[in-house]
Amino acid sequence: MKNYKLLTPGPLTTTDTVKAEMLFDHCTWDDDYKQITQQIRKKLLKLAHASEDTYTTVLMQGSGSFGVESVLTSVVGNTDKLLIIANGAYGERMTDIAEYAGIRYVTYRVHYNEIPSAQKVQQILKADPDITHVTMVHSETTSGILNDIAAVAKVVKSAGRDFIVDAMSSFGGVDIPVEELGIDFIISSANKCIQGVPGFSFIICNREKLKESKGKARSLSLDLYDQWETMEKDGKWRFTSPTHVVLAFAKAMEEMEAEGGIEARGARYRANNQLLIDKMSEMGIKTYIDGTHQGPIITTFFYPEDANFSFGEMYEYIKERGYAIYPGKVTEAETFRIGNIGEIYEEDIVKLCDIFKEFLESKQAEEKMARVG
Ligand SMILES: *Cc1c(COP(=O)(O)O)cnc(C)c1O
Repeated sequence: MKNYKLLTPGPLTTTDTVKAEMLFDHCTWDDDYKQITQQIRKKLLKLAHASEDTYTTVLMQGSGSFGVESVLTSVVGNTDKLLIIANGAYGERMTDIAEYAGIRYVTYRVHYNEIPSAQKVQQILKADPDITHVTMVHSETTSGILNDIAAVAKVVKSAGRDFIVDAMSSFGGVDIPVEELGIDFIISSANKCIQGVPGFSFIICNREKLKESKGKARSLSLDLYDQWETMEKDGKWRFTSPTHVVLAFAKAMEEMEAEGGIEARGARYRANNQLLIDKMSEMGIKTYIDGTHQGPIITTFFYPEDANFSFGEMYEYIKERGYAIYPGKVTEAETFRIGNIGEIYEEDIVKLCDIFKEFLESKQAEEKMARVG
């Protein structure tokens, strides 16, 4: 079946008009194309509340992880040391990147259903003056928790260290005053809350910090400074750019403005999320993250008690009826995840919950039959 909607954290369901932009094979060499890239870069700064004097945007080929790897391997130099704050799989992925690249690092791990403590970060920085950079995930898509980057930014900045944020699944869906918080590098990708298709990531960088990274990169393709230097001239990408994805993204940004920007989009996501949680709760299905820290992007749910079905069974049942959901990713409990970003509206959430209810009832009926039989 090819006509289901995605209730996943990205790639996600996009509009037909965004997809239609990809029917044209654009030349990469000409000025029209370069202008599209420059417009995207400018608009992203606006979404980040970052001024052009202090900040600049780099677009990088590849999925979101390429963007994270580009930043970590380009800006943390050989004599530097990175503090990685991790409370989920994406935080852990940063430790993998550091291992591969031979970056000096330490990890501050927090349980997947808790947010990192800014006070603890402050203590770690005080005790270890070698640490030059701190990195963390904003919306940990592993669980759906929304970390407090503002509180951590405060202690990182007052300790005079550089701050890198993976805002992959939140940027565009949750408002982030990047300049006010003093974030030096913030990373997201085309296929999350801006509702484009997969193919590139983007990094909003403090200009001075980016310039300081010149010559530090450990890889040619992911060299953040080099990519910026080329792009900054006239909007040309180093190496082949994902042209169709770029056109679709430009359209997605227009549609986001038409919707009412981050404010309206964020409100739609929050309403989707709240409705989902309320309706699941009515069916006795509880969330893994408590109400205070649950983010508006994706939600981890525990299986109902005495569940007599597998994820695969539930997935197929729901997919046949028009929606694709996600398996759980936390380690200590059986869970599943439902994302509510992309072209998803109240009616979708209502439909999904009806399908889920039907599924649970069919499973209960089966069990009864088995017992009687
Ligand atoms: C999606 C996502 C990424 C990037 O994952 P890719 O599979 O490389 O696109 C990184 N961090 C977070 C928090 C994400 O949600």
